Amino acid sequence: MTGFTTTAIHGVRSKETPHGTLRVPIYDSVSFEHEDSKAIQQAFEGKRPAHTYSRISNPTVTHLEQTLRLLSGGVAVLAVSSGMAAISNTILALGSSGKNIVTTRHLFGNTLSLFEKTLFAWGLEVRYVSMNDMSAVDAAIDKDTCCVFLESITNPQLEVADCNAISAVAGKHGVPLVADNTLMTPYLFNSRKNGVDIEILSSTKYISGGGTTVGGIIIDNGTFNWSQSAKLKEYATQYGPMTCIARLRQEIYRNVGACLSPHNASMQSLGLETLSLRIDKSCKGCLEIAHFLSRHPSVMATHYPGLSNSASYGIARKQFGSQSGGILTFDLKDTEQCFKLMDSLNIIRRATNVNDNKSLIIHPWSTIFAEYCDEDKYSTGIRPTMLRLAVGIEDTDDLIKDLKQGLEQL
Ligand SMILES: *Cc1c(COP(=O)(O)O)cnc(C)c1O
Repeated sequence: MTGFTTTAIHGVRSKETPHGTLRVPIYDSVSFEHEDSKAIQQAFEGKRPAHTYSRISNPTVTHLEQTLRLLSGGVAVLAVSSGMAAISNTILALGSSGKNIVTTRHLFGNTLSLFEKTLFAWGLEVRYVSMNDMSAVDAAIDKDTCCVFLESITNPQLEVADCNAISAVAGKHGVPLVADNTLMTPYLFNSRKNGVDIEILSSTKYISGGGTTVGGIIIDNGTFNWSQSAKLKEYATQYGPMTCIARLRQEIYRNVGACLSPHNASMQSLGLETLSLRIDKSCKGCLEIAHFLSRHPSVMATHYPGLSNSASYGIARKQFGSQSGGILTFDLKDTEQCFKLMDSLNIIRRATNVNDNKSLIIHPWSTIFAEYCDEDKYSTGIRPTMLRLAVGIEDTDDLIKDLKQGLEQL
């Protein structure tokens, strides 16, 4: 097995590239013709691997899936139209009315809304616990729990849970652990080695290669015995470790219809080729900026798991090694100062999204979490004094200069 970057660039040699193109072409075709009626029958019955219709599979999308399978070490991968499509497809595959999800309130905003509003209306219960409290996780799981769901690093609270410890608790109950690994990606966090059964990625973020396209990925690590799942057990004998992705492909994914476009898949395959370089650069910049902010007199507090005074420092080192991602948060005196700083920046852009090539700053209280009441915001770890900075890959000196001149104006 080659290293991460070599695999990302050369890992899958597609036989399907006419003219010897070095890049897999964008197959802008909805449908695929077959040699004769027998062949098309076999393709529809799944007896012969072949593409039939691009909502179900497409060669450009398959190339992205196969590269991610090699990079993650998972057994099966499904690419979908967005990170939210990856989460909703996965929960639809595992849960049903009367079941529950054990999770934390510290979740990506739309994930929280999907669980509390959309899925709740269909009879799925959500149970919130602290992912640092193993006995609470243990107590919340019962025979109707369809999964334990967490984020490998929470956004914007930037907490890191001990996935192996949670996996041991979930596994004891025969429940799979699903982790949204968007902010770390398989480059920084090997979810399979840390007890995660299903990994979710919003490929919109680091993988897209610079905020180019929206996409999502579901990876089955092949670690869960699907005969333990109430919903999937009847298929487990036939599909073994592929059961979850097989059911998605045969039913849920094609019925929901949130497929990734071949164009987006091509952009994201290109993004994967430079993923490690971009991550190394943004993590290094983020740590330097965290040190700068934590020493600045106008900054009340700086939060980054790579700072040794962070509560998550120890577990971040253990799970991620020396790099802790490209996002930090910091607190100023009040909302007014936050707005003033944002408005005085010249290089760092005022926008949502993270892990772009451009550094982006946002005030989560008044934007991403605007739909929640103050009490809910506080309980989700959002403060009116907090700014989130997603560090891009610009020259760090320029970013620090930009922040410095902004802070001097406060
Ligand atoms: C952005 C994001 C999502 C949602 O992804 P989309 O591609 O925007 O649908 C889910 N989880 C996390 C952690 C994210 O940052």
